[in-house]
Amino acid sequence: MPEALAIDGGRPVRSALLPYGRQTVDEMDVSAVVAALRSGWLTTGPAVKAFEDDFAACVGARHAVAVSSGTAALHAAMHALRIGPGDEVIVPPVTFAATANAVLFVGGRPVFADVDADTLLMDPASVEGVMTPRTRAVIGVDFAGQPCAYDRLRDTVGKQGVTVVSDACHALGGALRGVPVGQLADLSVFSFHPVKHVTTCEGGMIVTDNAGLADRMRAFRNHCMTVDHHGRAASASWGYEIAELGFNYRISDVQCALGRSQLRRLTEWVDRRRSIAARYDEMLADIPAIVPLALRPEVEHAYHLYVVQLDLDRLTVDRGAVFAALRAEGIGVNVHYIPVHLQPLYRERLGTGPGDCPVAEAAYERILSLPVFAGMTDADVEDVIAALRKVIRAYLRS
Ligand SMILES: *Cc1c(COP(=O)(O)O)cnc(C)c1O
Repeated sequence: MPEALAIDGGRPVRSALLPYGRQTVDEMDVSAVVAALRSGWLTTGPAVKAFEDDFAACVGARHAVAVSSGTAALHAAMHALRIGPGDEVIVPPVTFAATANAVLFVGGRPVFADVDADTLLMDPASVEGVMTPRTRAVIGVDFAGQPCAYDRLRDTVGKQGVTVVSDACHALGGALRGVPVGQLADLSVFSFHPVKHVTTCEGGMIVTDNAGLADRMRAFRNHCMTVDHHGRAASASWGYEIAELGFNYRISDVQCALGRSQLRRLTEWVDRRRSIAARYDEMLADIPAIVPLALRPEVEHAYHLYVVQLDLDRLTVDRGAVFAALRAEGIGVNVHYIPVHLQPLYRERLGTGPGDCPVAEAAYERILSLPVFAGMTDADVEDVIAALRKVIRAYLRS
């Protein structure tokens, strides 16, 4: 007799839910935050610049601009590129909504290109298919932490003068052909939400080698004022000009102190995520009906997520039932993402809908994200595997 599933009243693999992602905060982080609080600066002080410098050095980019969230970072990138009404920006549907929303923030039109079925990364052939003379930029999303084929994207769009932006919110610490994420696009965007690789509680960063774009983003996070308070202090003057519409997207010194402290452990944490992924790879090889996303040989994956696809033909139930059964076992699986073009906002505003991106829509019915974060113990990983074995055994078609 196979063991009864927790969802059917059996004993769960874990009594407390293991989340799919969680921050690691240690006493060094706490000390860094306390020191920032005591420093006399709460916002837009030396820690912001220091965090930007550390981050730029970490990814090997010339300029880094820190802002209040990854979403603000995407918005700043669209502003810097002067995307506006009449402009189209190509995005994948397999992403967090903020990627496409940022195009709407500036009055542009997001255009969805479908993804590759095995990696769920934007398919350059699909990008080519949706390009028009209005295409101004393409935002690649390094889904789950695997960098997109930026080289192929650039070949596809570069000739037309289209800018390549990277939504690298999943991929800090990753690389393509040995080139780190952050150097793969004209602008690369990161998030420091607690489930991402390093956290500032809330926060984001844009990196670029283009000084002009960096200046525009620095101004944008502070109402597009021509001179910030450091400049006014230096010139002993109150004068500034506002020629464009900006926002308050500033990040605090306290947050940046945390970010700097966290960044020191990035390599260690990415290595830990990779070793968890390697264990999943090894064990999933003999659990039927669960197929991890394909890994392209030329990439170094950063494993923000570990995403699998269910082979539904081999199961007696759908993804929803597998999800519920795993949750009942205490495993905090998740689904990334509901395709953005199926959200009511997009259907109503842009007339998108089912059939626009058939590969993404089909994948959506089969995907699950397994827990992966630096603080996961080996025992946590084994619990996930035990729960997968248990649930799949119960639902495998005979
Ligand atoms: C997290 C994330 C964002 C948004 O970041 P926030 O810091 O939460 O605003 C954007 N795009 C992707 C792909 C993300 O994962």
